[in-house]
Amino acid sequence: MFANICILIITLVFFTVLCISSFTEREYRSAFIAFISCILNAFLWICFLQASSSLQTINIVVLLILCLFAIISMIKFFPGKNILERDISKAEQYDERDTMFARNNVQYHPDLMEQYYSMHPENRSKDRQIHQKPEFGDKEQIFYDPYTAPCFEAAFEYLQESMPLSDGKTAKQKINVDSVKFSQTISDLGKFYGACDIGFLQLSPHHFYSHKGRHEKDWGEKTDQTYQTAISIVVPMRTNMVKMGPTSCMLQESAQKYVEAAKISNIIAGYIRQFGYRARAHNDGNYDVLCVPIAVESGLGELGRMGIFMHKIHGPCVRLAVVTTDIKLPESSPQKSCYMEEFCKICKKCADNCPSGSITHDDEPLSRNFRHWSIEQEKCYSYWKTMGSDCGICIGVCPYTKPDTLIHKIVRFYISRNPLNQRIALFMDDFLYGRHKKIAKTNPEKILLPK
Ligand code: SF4
Ligand code: SF4
Repeated sequence: MFANICILIITLVFFTVLCISSFTEREYRSAFIAFISCILNAFLWICFLQASSSLQTINIVVLLILCLFAIISMIKFFPGKNILERDISKAEQYDERDTMFARNNVQYHPDLMEQYYSMHPENRSKDRQIHQKPEFGDKEQIFYDPYTAPCFEAAFEYLQESMPLSDGKTAKQKINVDSVKFSQTISDLGKFYGACDIGFLQLSPHHFYSHKGRHEKDWGEKTDQTYQTAISIVVPMRTNMVKMGPTSCMLQESAQKYVEAAKISNIIAGYIRQFGYRARAHNDGNYDVLCVPIAVESGLGELGRMGIFMHKIHGPCVRLAVVTTDIKLPESSPQKSCYMEEFCKICKKCADNCPSGSITHDDEPLSRNFRHWSIEQEKCYSYWKTMGSDCGICIGVCPYTKPDTLIHKIVRFYISRNPLNQRIALFMDDFLYGRHKKIAKTNPEKILLPK
């Protein structure tokens, strides 16, 4: 009797919180299912409370199953090797000229184009097709909007113009600092200006691009690899904007968060230089380093199937920047795995929903001499150019792209316990939110602040 009342109360609270939480997130399917479950669940436990002797046997069996389920849910057990122990000892450097952004840009610089495709003839014909597609902000793009297209263009112009702020003169006098206090202040400063997380890492060669590739003026030059410490900066995106992808909402959200990430990284770099140490910010279109492996190895999250960084709270729904400096700062404490990469092995929701087929359903491919998730960037970028938006469907459907509410905190904890929990959580995510996303055909009425 007492056990039945307790379970009735706990389950009623759970389904009510889930229903309200889903409703406020505008996840109406999930809110409806939670509402119906709440009623059926109450009916079941009230029946048990008034049970005849025959029902009492069933009641005891159900209670025992629930107890067993609760105990198993709490056990932390992932058999096999820790996936975070990825062998990166032979990792090769990546050339920024091989990124799709760089390869798209070379079409406007015939001499660079000739140089690039003589080095990489295998990319010539597929890139030619991408070059022929409309550029971001062109009217032919599906999600072009005459009033808001100039918004992201203004944001990227701002990023371009603020590039000189990423580096600068250091103060003449070098001040001795307590490295622990200094790194704590840097972390607080980043969060004060809008970051959700900051990590510290000693740099290795594979964190640097080998050559620059984004701008004509220094295309093909070697990157500056003289810095020893990286500060990783994570900026969360709004889940409601990202879930509107591939409409222009996603493009605007990305642009705004790149501006935020640039602002924070430029300020942190400027702050360090005041103490007489070299510091250089790396933000959109202005990188010497790869932000994703730095964020992963700083212990801030893991690498997802879609080849991008998955933050331990916000999942893939973030943007990154980095500051490199020549002052040695203590590394962030080693990460406790959230087993997101284990979850990626069974989930594949991003791969199922990617309209361009860029995300693999297979195991981690071998690339740059180590196994890690990466996507077919040509297919992805080509789709972006058709849509006129950086798509983001994969980010929007990811079960980790959820607001940081109580219910999602509980689910993240649950997922991180064992493989059985992960399978149940995936089933529930598909059931509550749907497995396949319907792709929007037009922009919402309000792009910047959708209802
Ligand atoms: S959608 Fe699933 S497979 Fe893809 S990154 Fe997210 S958790 Fe991993
Ligand atoms: S951004 Fe869109 S096209 Fe690119 S990988 Fe994600 S879902 Fe696929």
